[in-house]
Amino acid sequence: MKLKLITACLLLVLSVSCSEAPQPISEASDSAELSSSSDAIDVLAVMLEPPAAEKKSNQNDVFDRFKDNLLNKTWELNPSFGVYVGVYQHDHKLAVPNGEQRALQREFYVTELQALKQFDANQLTSSNATDLAIIEGELRSQIWYIDVFRSYEWNPAQYNPAGAFGVILNTEYKPLPERLVAISSRLKLVPAYYQAALDNLKLPTLEHLSLAIQQSGGTLNMFEVVIPEKIGGVDLDPQLLEELTTGLADSASAVKSYIDWLEARQLELRQSGEARSFRIGAELYEKKFKHDIESSYTAEELYNIALAAKENLHIEMMRITEELWPSYFNERPMPDNRLHAVKEMIDHLSQKHVKRDEFVDEIRRQIPIIQAFMDDNELLDSDPTRPLVVRLTPEYQRGFAGASVNAPGPYDATANTYYNVSPLDSYTDEQAESYLREYNHWILQVLNIHEAIPGHYTQLMHSNKSPSKIKSIFGNGAMIEGWAVYAERMMLESGYGDNEPELWLMYSKWNLRVVMNTILDYSVQVLDMQEQAALDMLMNEAFQERTEAEGKWRRATVSQVQLTSYFTGYSEIYAFREELKLKMGDRFDLRTFHNKFLSYGSAPVPVIRSSMLAELGLDALR
Ligand code: ZN
Ligand code: ZN
Repeated sequence: MKLKLITACLLLVLSVSCSEAPQPISEASDSAELSSSSDAIDVLAVMLEPPAAEKKSNQNDVFDRFKDNLLNKTWELNPSFGVYVGVYQHDHKLAVPNGEQRALQREFYVTELQALKQFDANQLTSSNATDLAIIEGELRSQIWYIDVFRSYEWNPAQYNPAGAFGVILNTEYKPLPERLVAISSRLKLVPAYYQAALDNLKLPTLEHLSLAIQQSGGTLNMFEVVIPEKIGGVDLDPQLLEELTTGLADSASAVKSYIDWLEARQLELRQSGEARSFRIGAELYEKKFKHDIESSYTAEELYNIALAAKENLHIEMMRITEELWPSYFNERPMPDNRLHAVKEMIDHLSQKHVKRDEFVDEIRRQIPIIQAFMDDNELLDSDPTRPLVVRLTPEYQRGFAGASVNAPGPYDATANTYYNVSPLDSYTDEQAESYLREYNHWILQVLNIHEAIPGHYTQLMHSNKSPSKIKSIFGNGAMIEGWAVYAERMMLESGYGDNEPELWLMYSKWNLRVVMNTILDYSVQVLDMQEQAALDMLMNEAFQERTEAEGKWRRATVSQVQLTSYFTGYSEIYAFREELKLKMGDRFDLRTFHNKFLSYGSAPVPVIRSSMLAELGLDALR
């Protein structure tokens, strides 16, 4: 199935991985029930008790076998995807992305989709019913990608076998010499892999050509430097060593030919002006949005919601700036252009930040404070037996400074969830200063809320209480990121930071970034927005530095829809909460709502919403 690569988290431009990585399923915590004993009467919890007796177990047993079977076939067809989520039984195989392979995959999706019809959601447990919805969405999406989207014909950057090699090399699931046997066997298929790429590619975009050239340089480094260095340190069977040496040389030469071909094609298309446009246009965009996000909004509706959100944030930021101005700038009059005043205030406040060698310690210090706030205010259940461990990012994942929650694959039962923080060691003074201004005194707190508590770590911990491999592997990115963005606002609304205006101002800037990502993505992909207009918009209306704005522009030219996932999930979760408040009146309890919402795992928000409304016996409002 679709290879959901570990995409860098938007809110951490430099992070190694974010929660879009598959999440772990803990075998240990299956039955660990968290108590909510301090509430005398928990109305929502009582109402939400599933009518267990009515559920038929028969279909559930059959469905469980169906899911196992579906996953086994998935790993067989896509061994690298397996490696990413911790299934290593096919680690020696590399799928060659040719027409034959595509036909096999398509047939598999169609067959499974047909087989899904035997199940009736009403006969399944709520966890299985959401799994059913997720599988159906995933299969339809995959078929659409093959039949309609066809990026294998125009995106040369999607051909890159390096990632799985890196995972096999760096994950100690068996001794290194045995992993090198798997690597050697994979290497033999690399030339065929690139041949398939050349056969598939019809008319690429210039933007994806550039990206592919750049990323293939990293792949070459994997075959010429990274793997050879690792081999250098071990005592190997001479025959294996020879196989590896040949395999690496052949693979490196295949990558080089690919880069040569890309560069020639780039030159040719630049001259002829016949490259495919990177803009996918309204029709494809709406469909891709539907398949990737699974929102109850259309992309156009979401775009309009984002426009309104931007206006509201601007009004709020101008109000706070007017309030704070005299205490920071004394008699100096505010600029007439209120957005300029906001920018000046943000720049001024950004000077308050930790020293570069205190960055990691400060994160360590903050986590228990944020945790205590969440517990004391009864916002969500926590689980002291599954603590978050703050650690320095392991060397091989470093590269850039940043912070991210480490989410091991669902097949790697692990006791700890790690909050990886990279020290700023590799930065020049200037780079470190710029980074620290960005993650200043206030934003660093919002970052910790997003990544850790009650953001990604807490969501993961809850979703692990009812383990579902399906939800872990095909988890909905909009729900996962949306939750973390929702958590930021929810904490501030609950009084975290004592409603300090500076914190709200900084938070608004941070939130404006996800709002603007949505506006940018739609404007660029659908409304033909040009580069200069995009940069002006990001710098003037979202207070971004030029380098950040340029990076964002570039991202909007090589990806589509993904930039909207944070805001979509956030908007839907927030709207659903407000809807339930209205429906339930006095019976609404925030903690119960959060616990229940997260108990469904990383399912699309509309699926969670309709399940919850059905269990509550409430009708939908919208
Ligand atoms: Zn400074
Ligand atoms: Zn995130």
